[in-house]
Amino acid sequence: MAKELNSKIPAGPVPEKWKEYKAHQRLVNPKNKLKLDVIVVGTGLAGASAAASLGEMGFNVLNFCIQDSPRRAHSIAAQGGINAAKCYQNDGDSVYRLFYDTVKGGDYRAREANVYRLAEVSNNIIDQCVAQGVPFAREYGGMLANRSFGGAQVSRTFYAKGQTGQQLLLGAYSSLSCQVNAGNVKLFTRYEMEDVVIVDGRARGIIAKDLRTGKLERFSANAVVIATGGYGNTYFLSTNAMGCNCTAAVQCYRKGAYFANPSYVQIHPTCIPVHGDKQSKLTLMSESLRNDGRIWVPKKIEDAKKLQKGEMQPWDIAEEDRDYYLERRYPAFGNLVPRDVASRAAKERCDKGFGVNNTGLAVYLDFSESINRLGIDVIMQRYGNLFEMYEEITDVFPGELANEINGVKYYKPMMIFPAVHYTMGGIWVDYELQTTIPGLFAIGECNFSDHGANRLGASALMQGLADGYFVLPYTIQNYLADQTVWPKVSTDLPEFAEAEKKVDAEFDRLLKIQGKRSVDSIHKELGHIMWEYVGMGRTAEGLKTGLKKMHDLEKEFDTNLFVPGSKEGLNIELDKAIHLRDFFTMGQLVAFDALSRNESCGGHFREEYQTEEGEAKRDDENYFYVGCWEYKGKGNEPELIKEPLEYEAIKVQTRNYKN
Ligand SMILES: Cc1cc2nc3c(=O)[nH]c(=O)nc-3n(C[C@H](O)[C@H](O)[C@H](O)COP(=O)(O)OP(=O)(O)OC[C@H]3O[C@@H](n4cnc5c(N)ncnc54)[C@H](O)[C@@H]3O)c2cc1C
Repeated sequence: MAKELNSKIPAGPVPEKWKEYKAHQRLVNPKNKLKLDVIVVGTGLAGASAAASLGEMGFNVLNFCIQDSPRRAHSIAAQGGINAAKCYQNDGDSVYRLFYDTVKGGDYRAREANVYRLAEVSNNIIDQCVAQGVPFAREYGGMLANRSFGGAQVSRTFYAKGQTGQQLLLGAYSSLSCQVNAGNVKLFTRYEMEDVVIVDGRARGIIAKDLRTGKLERFSANAVVIATGGYGNTYFLSTNAMGCNCTAAVQCYRKGAYFANPSYVQIHPTCIPVHGDKQSKLTLMSESLRNDGRIWVPKKIEDAKKLQKGEMQPWDIAEEDRDYYLERRYPAFGNLVPRDVASRAAKERCDKGFGVNNTGLAVYLDFSESINRLGIDVIMQRYGNLFEMYEEITDVFPGELANEINGVKYYKPMMIFPAVHYTMGGIWVDYELQTTIPGLFAIGECNFSDHGANRLGASALMQGLADGYFVLPYTIQNYLADQTVWPKVSTDLPEFAEAEKKVDAEFDRLLKIQGKRSVDSIHKELGHIMWEYVGMGRTAEGLKTGLKKMHDLEKEFDTNLFVPGSKEGLNIELDKAIHLRDFFTMGQLVAFDALSRNESCGGHFREEYQTEEGEAKRDDENYFYVGCWEYKGKGNEPELIKEPLEYEAIKVQTRNYKN
């Protein structure tokens, strides 16, 4: 029988506790001269917003990132938008509706109370960002514009062309810079957190490496916040930036922080298909394109075969011979079903032989209907930079007129296929975003908190900024209120020395192997194992095989890795080797979790558990919990601890996007 975990969720979804948090705010009023130190690791949307807010509240913030500027965090990649329940479209949206859609979209595996809080603060985020000058798209009359994203029947997504993440990060960065200028935030760019330091059971600091000099440094603080993003790059090929890694999160896990729901990995349906084995990165085509693009494959298998061989072009296929399979299967939501549903439907068509591209592993995303209806100028205004990005990579411009059949004009479509994109799992946090290690907090994509088994589009930015601007700045004070009587610990303590020694020893170990294989060649192999056995469709047998293969490959990593250079100065290969060490731990954790969850829900699809129509089959009787994992040492199976889910406001039911 697994242990049970108490998440400290207040009764009911409405967080009454907020009033208490406001009272604590007085403790850190700058006038009180109580300067407590907080380390924030990460400058993505979650980290930058948290560091800026904590600085403004009068804390001394030490803010770390691996890039040369906070503005280069992976968050700038976000294209499509950010959700909020403003109801500017007057289409019936509300805080409750956003809350409901998010819980349903997460296949009823999210914590109800957290999601309600997220929906509540969503509108404040938009106000905050507008005040910072974020140039959201506007209607002709000046109102902020909205578009639709998957899993919702209202338009609630605020956007800045296809660069929403970049514009939001510029806003957060301007606030952060203001606090740097005020002396409240000190930035440590090109620094990588290598370990968290625990003193008397509390997080008291970190060991970080100056990536330029290779030197290890010790930092102490009253609390540590990690905002280091997701673990999608475990799969090698993903839409994540190349630098995304899970080293900080995995080190926290090794030091005793529980890791929750690792098997919930989001596979995004609209990415540019893999085009060869030399590729190191996949490119997302934003979900916003599904507002105006229609997804299809040929109805006839012989057409699919001809398309695969290049004997036919998509624009040669007339309307009646196209299968708009999402519109056919899910008439109520059509092309805007959630990502897990759309990805599985694409896989189903390709598995049955209807896929296109020379590999048979792609479907079309076609704008012909919307260009005919709205004109190319309107479509370019909405998605111009995405069309250009697609053309740059594939040499096909999706808005180019290609054929006319029976008076209908057909434009060149995009080809897309599902790819690893986002990780719903992450470091377990309670309602106050504190991990199982007191004093250690986790925010943004690196925690597990709000998306259940599947995240709806445009809600990662919402969660990251909710955590950073509106949740953590309040909740962390419940912890810090007691810290006013604690002196900041010295970095000369043996705990710091010990942690630094271990990190250093790891560098030596990896450098000394002097084997024959590069980091990337092993990482690529790990990615293949993950995609094949722990990817879109999983089985108990496949997961066991995947675990065995990962175990063997990890041995290869430990004995046959080649890292050139030394630990002094810049050594990117050494940094990558450390990341890969942690992707191994992560990959196995994903597989253990997937193996333990004998049901299908959201991004976790166990082929043994599906309905006759191929939909995910949940088992609420046995798996209605957050699966938390405790580290038990390298090579050992981690221990599962269950946090039971409690729903009061929403009735748990089978997800339905058909009617
Ligand atoms: C192509 C793409 C498009 C997307 N579009 C959208 C969208 O339209 N809407 C939406 O809501 N979501 C979108 N997402 C998801 C969203 O962008 C991310 O989930 C979100 O930006 C994550 O923010 P974060 O602050 O948690 O982490 P990140 O932005 O990943 O930032 C992580 C930070 O941690 C730092 N870091 C990492 N490890 C260490 C370490 N060991 N030491 C020191 N620093 C470290 C990095 O330097 C960085 O500053 C998209 C994702 C992708 C890949």
